[in-house]
Amino acid sequence: MIYIDNNATTRVADEVVAAMQPFFTDVYANPSSMYAFALEAKQPLEAARAAVARLVNAAHADEIIFTSCGTESDNAAILGVLAAQPRKNHVVTTAVEHPAVYNLGEELQRRGYKVTYLPVDRGGRIDLAALRATLTDTTALVSMMWANNETGVLFPIAEACAIAHEHGVVFHTDAVQAAGKVPIDVEATGVDLLSLSGHKIHAPKGVGALYVRRGTRTRPLLLGGHQEHGRRAGTENVPYAVALGAAADLAAQHLADEITRVGALRDRLESELLARIPNAHVNGDHAARTPNTTNITFQYVEGEAILLSLSDVGICASSGSACSSGSLEPSHVLRAMGLSHDEAHGAIRFSLSRYNTDAEIDAVIDELPPIIARLRAMSPFTPRELMA
Ligand code: PLP
Repeated sequence: MIYIDNNATTRVADEVVAAMQPFFTDVYANPSSMYAFALEAKQPLEAARAAVARLVNAAHADEIIFTSCGTESDNAAILGVLAAQPRKNHVVTTAVEHPAVYNLGEELQRRGYKVTYLPVDRGGRIDLAALRATLTDTTALVSMMWANNETGVLFPIAEACAIAHEHGVVFHTDAVQAAGKVPIDVEATGVDLLSLSGHKIHAPKGVGALYVRRGTRTRPLLLGGHQEHGRRAGTENVPYAVALGAAADLAAQHLADEITRVGALRDRLESELLARIPNAHVNGDHAARTPNTTNITFQYVEGEAILLSLSDVGICASSGSACSSGSLEPSHVLRAMGLSHDEAHGAIRFSLSRYNTDAEIDAVIDELPPIIARLRAMSPFTPRELMA
C-alpha cells in the first residue's frame, strides 16, 4: 500500500506508541489524585504540555490546554472568546476554513452573529486589505487557518494577526495542517489562540491541543472539574496527552527534513505528473504551500473515479469533493478559489509524510498516467485530441 493521504490522518509513529503504552497499564493513576502514584502520571502529563509548548514556541507551558481533537480546539477557541465578549457579535473568518471552523460560523449566524467569510483568489490567497476593511468595533474575533488542508496554501498569519490587533481584535489560527510541516511560532506571529490536532502529526486520533496566550479572555467549553486550570473540565487523557507530547518532539526534530526531503518528493511527484498528463493543473499558490501537499485537477475526469482506480492499485489519496456529507458537492475550498464545478470534481489531493519514500513516488508517477488516460477514453467530455 502507498499512503499519500496524510492530511486526512497519519500513521502513529512507533516512538509515540511506545511513549503512551505504559499509561494504559502501569501508570493508570488519575493525575489529580494526592498520592505519589498520581505524580507518576502528572509529571509526564506536564512534560507533554511542555513539549507541545516548545513545538509552537509558547512562552509558558500552561498556555497549552489538551483537548479531544482539532475540532474541539477550534470550537473551544471560537466559542470561548465569543462568550468572554458578550457585547460583540461579529466574527471574521475565511471562505476556505475546515468545517470545524466554517460550519461553526454558519451555526453562529443562526445564533444571531454576523460572520464574514473573507474570499480568496484563484491561488487560494487572502487579501489583507479586505481583512482590514471588515474589522469594526463589534468584531470579537478573527479565526484564520495557518495552512489549508486541501491545497496546503499558507495564510500570512503574522500580518493578519497584526491587523486584528491594531483593531483590538483577538486572533485565533487553526494550525492543524501547519504543525510539523512549517515552523510554528506563536511569539513571532503574536497569535492569541492556536489549534493543533494529534492525528495529523503521527499521534493517535482523538487528541488535540489549544494554545491560549496568557491574558486572553476566554470561557471554557466544558464545565465541570478543575482540570487544565479550570479551562477544560474532564479527567485528563494521560496516554493521549503523552502521545501528543512525543509526537510534538518528533515533529520538531523532523521539521527540517520534512521541509526539504518531503518537499522534494512532493515537487517531483507534481512536476512528473504534470509532464506526463496533459490538461492537468495545480490548485493553490505554488510559492506559499506546506511542503507535503499538492492538489491537482485532471480535467475531464471525476476525482472519485480516479481515487477508486488508485485504490485498486493500492494507492490512498483523496479528492476535492466533500463526500463526508454523503453529497457529491465539490469542495467549498476549490469553489471559493473560483474553480468550476467540473474542475473541482476532477481534483485529487496528494499529501505526503516523512514515511513516504522515493520508490513510492516513482510508483505513483507510473500508475497514474494510464489511469487518467483510461478514464478519459471513457468520458464523453474528453476532447478528441486527448483520446489518442
Ligand atoms: N482543522 C483542519 C485544518 C483540519 O485539517 C482538520 C482535520 O482534518 C481539523 C481542523 C479537525 O481536526 P480533528 O480531526 O482532530 O478534529
